[in-house]
Parts: sequence; C-alpha cells; structure tokens
Amino acid sequence: MKKIVTFGEIVVEIMALEPGEGFKKAIPLIGPFPSGAPAIFIDQAAKMGQPGGLVSAVGNDDFGALNIERLRRDGVDVSAILVHPTAATGSAFVRYRPDGERDFIFNIRHSACSAIGLTADAEKLIESADHLHIMGSALFSDGIVAAIHEATVRIKARGGTVSFDPNIRKEMLDLPGMRQALAHALENTDLFMPSGAEIFLFTKATEEKAAVDELLARGIKAVVIKRGAEGASYFDRAGEVFSPAFKVEEVDPTGAGDSFGAAFVTCWLRGMEPAAALRIANAAGARAVSVKGPMEGTSTMAEIEAFLEAQGASA
Ligand code: ATP
Ligand code: MG
Repeated sequence: MKKIVTFGEIVVEIMALEPGEGFKKAIPLIGPFPSGAPAIFIDQAAKMGQPGGLVSAVGNDDFGALNIERLRRDGVDVSAILVHPTAATGSAFVRYRPDGERDFIFNIRHSACSAIGLTADAEKLIESADHLHIMGSALFSDGIVAAIHEATVRIKARGGTVSFDPNIRKEMLDLPGMRQALAHALENTDLFMPSGAEIFLFTKATEEKAAVDELLARGIKAVVIKRGAEGASYFDRAGEVFSPAFKVEEVDPTGAGDSFGAAFVTCWLRGMEPAAALRIANAAGARAVSVKGPMEGTSTMAEIEAFLEAQGASA
C-alpha cells in the first residue's frame, strides 16, 4: 500500500464551552484536544489503514505526549515527530461567535513547531513515502517551507504523487516566501483540494469551471472542491462528479476539511472511482462535524461503512 507523508503543526486545542466574543474574561473551557490540520489529516488516513507519517515537533510536556500517544494509537508513523527539549507544544484556543465565525489565539510559530524541518528522521520518512500531502497552513516557517520543497522534489523524482490543500488564511499570503512556496507546491500537484473560493487563489479565471479548466491545463490531474454542508465536486479531464453532503447536526466544523481530504486521498491512492471516493470522503467529513474536538471525529473504514449503511448509501 502507498505510504503518505505530510508536514506541519501539532497543537492542542482548547475550546470555549459557550459561544461569545473572544477571551477577555474568565470563561469555562474544555481541552486539551489533539489537533493541527496535518495531524488530523494523517490520523484520518492511518485510521483507514493507509500507511502514513507526520514530520512535526512537540514539546517535552503533556500536550506533546497526548498528541503522540493518540497518533501512535491510531497507526500513524510518529518516528519523525521531534520532541523539543525546551519549547512547549503549540496550542490553539478557539471560541465560536454567535454568528458561527471563530476567534482563535494561536501559539504555533514560536512553539516547539518552530523546530519542524528536514531532520534525519524526516529524511528517512520521506525516503519511505510514495505520496506527499501539502497542507498550506503548515507553510509558516522557513524550515518547513524548505523541508516541504525538498520532499516534493524527491518524491516526484521517484515517480510519487502530491496532493495539496491550500487551507490558508488570507493573512498568511503576505508572509515572506509564501507565494513562491505555494507556486512550487501547485506546480507539482497531482490532486488539488481547495475549499470554496480557494479555487481562485492561483487562477486568472474568476468563474469556477474556468478556474478548474485553467488548473487542469497547467498539468494538475484532478481537482476536488470542498463545499461544506453542500458536499464536494471532483473534476478531471474526463469531466465532473458532484456528491452531496450527508445531513448531520454540525457540532464542531473544525477538522472536517482535513478528515474529508485524508479520506479522499486514501481512496484515490487505492485507485477508487471518483464517485465512490467522494461518498466516503463526505462520510468522513460528516462524521467529523458531528463530534466535538478537532481530531475526535476521525473515522475507521468500518465506522465509515456503518455510517453509509445507516444513511442508505453503501460504499
Ligand atoms: P476546515 O474548516 O476543516 O478547513 P474546509 O473548509 O477545508 O474545512 P469544508 O468544505 O467545510 O472543508 O468541509 C469538508 C467536507 O466535510 C465537506 O465537503 C463535507 O463533505 C463535510 N461537511 C462539512 N460541513 C458539513 C455539514 N455541516 N454537514 C455535513 N457534512 C459536512
Ligand atoms: Mg480547509
């Protein structure tokens, strides 16, 4: 089976129990939960039985141990997660506003995550990988940008494949080197997985179908657009497939895109038809939003099959 490698932040998430505005007074919180977009992604793939590892860093503290233990339990190769001797594990505090928007306080760039780079363990993991998943949110330090660049070159040179989820906040676009890093990722991407308007991040076109065609013409093999509660669409040169989302109660949307993405990439690496892969990925996304906690809603294949059966849409 093909092995996936991804790079980026491991954090704990601590969330406000009640919606409201920010963190300027004492409020009830719940956490720590294991989190970080690349960590959620690789956890979801491993739970489906796909070999995969994460290049990351945590502190020598309980937050780090909590994350490593969860990833190891779920079958992730944790050999390239560095334990930083002095810096603390990254963290994210999140509170929902009444309108559904979120306020975040991140401590990532100056946490143990600042040490993520091309270590000897990372090089070994890259050597063992057939597929690279690039998470745009992970491109927050020169060390990671350089390591992902190197992994892209090495894995493509061996005939491996690359998927890319831009997963980017607008403020990140103006960080030094970011546009070049994103351009290099896109140039080497086989499977591009934006959500909603992210499809226009790299195109001249301002209409969806034209933007997809522009990306396919540049050599990308397939594009998957995540559409939240609507579902998702797949495009390649042969055409388009749409798959509606499942109706579930949205308890916590954080991590849905990462779970969806990992489930889709896993199915794609197994050579599954796009329609079947979208159905499975939509199920993984739906299960993710139904559970509180970013990584708490990742799914095994058995859980996805049981969900599909309950929805009357067997895989
Ligand atoms: P993230 O906030 O994790 O970055 P995203 O914007 O990348 O999310 P979304 O499009 O929000 O990704 O969600 C990914 C997938 O999860 C959707 O394509 C859909 O399959 C599923 N999903 C998301 N929200 C819902 C919902 N409310 N009900 C059912 N399924 C959902
Ligand atoms: Mg996303």
